[in-house]
Amino acid sequence: MKHIETIKEMQSLALNWKRSGITIALVPTMGALHEGHLSLIRSACQAVQLHGKVVVSIYVNPIQFAPNEDYSKYPRTLQNDLRLCQEAGADAVFTPSNEVMYPSGNEDSNAPLRYSTFVSEEVLSKTMEGISRPAHFRGVTTVVNKLFNIILPDYAIFGEKDFQQATIIRRMVRDLNIPTQIIVSPIVRESDGLALSSRNRYLSPDERTQALCLSKALKMVQEKVSIQSFPAKELKEEIRVMIEKQPDAKIDYIEFFDPESLVPVVEVNTGTRMALAVYIGKTRLIDNAIL
Ligand code: AMP
Repeated sequence: MKHIETIKEMQSLALNWKRSGITIALVPTMGALHEGHLSLIRSACQAVQLHGKVVVSIYVNPIQFAPNEDYSKYPRTLQNDLRLCQEAGADAVFTPSNEVMYPSGNEDSNAPLRYSTFVSEEVLSKTMEGISRPAHFRGVTTVVNKLFNIILPDYAIFGEKDFQQATIIRRMVRDLNIPTQIIVSPIVRESDGLALSSRNRYLSPDERTQALCLSKALKMVQEKVSIQSFPAKELKEEIRVMIEKQPDAKIDYIEFFDPESLVPVVEVNTGTRMALAVYIGKTRLIDNAIL
């Protein structure tokens, strides 16, 4: 497995592969890899089969974090990540620095050298995560575009865990005619229901127990909606009462929406998607499910 840090080396390797007719699959991550990421790498291996190449990118993208968020304390575990990528069957791991991704140029004299091009999706990005984190998706779509141009993937694998993100990337690929097929891979959970996340390692043992309220809320609504439909307002209130029983839980949002358009629904049926974001202490967790 190759470990590549420069754009030049990554791009020329990808170009050589393409010229030899080799299929490429990309798994974009921010590292601190867990079983959820590894399931994406396995989907990538399946997509390209024996003769293709799988690239994992590990990059904590500063422009998708707001100044008050956890960019500087985000877990960075590169040596362990490299080992896991190798074991999961990756052919290359790309770990660019901020300086190669967003060159700052000379701030004093030479403004044109500074990084100044961004990609933004303007409809799906305005709800849920986009309300709580207004600059987040612009950062994500920009970095994913850059990674696509550097790695030239035929396939890119994203997790259903970040359902809104995957929907936005699909829209971006369609709107900008990017010749990459997007594959969305199911959420990997702990045996008690908690969705795996690099941010779970911020949780104390007590917070870890309280964090189960997200998956429990999804399960409760799934069971109710399997029998009959309910007004979204009524379900939101019921979940609010349930989650607020946890002493350190603070709801950011609970939403019921159409899975294609992400438009909120008034009446919740089977086929509606539910997503929620909840702070457990200082840690912000998200989860979602189809009902
Ligand atoms: P991150 O490193 O958090 O940016 O995540 C990188 C990719 O892994 C994204 O496409 C996520 O949706 C996906 N991912 C994160 N957690 C999980 C999980 N528990 N199950 C499946 N995919 C996941």
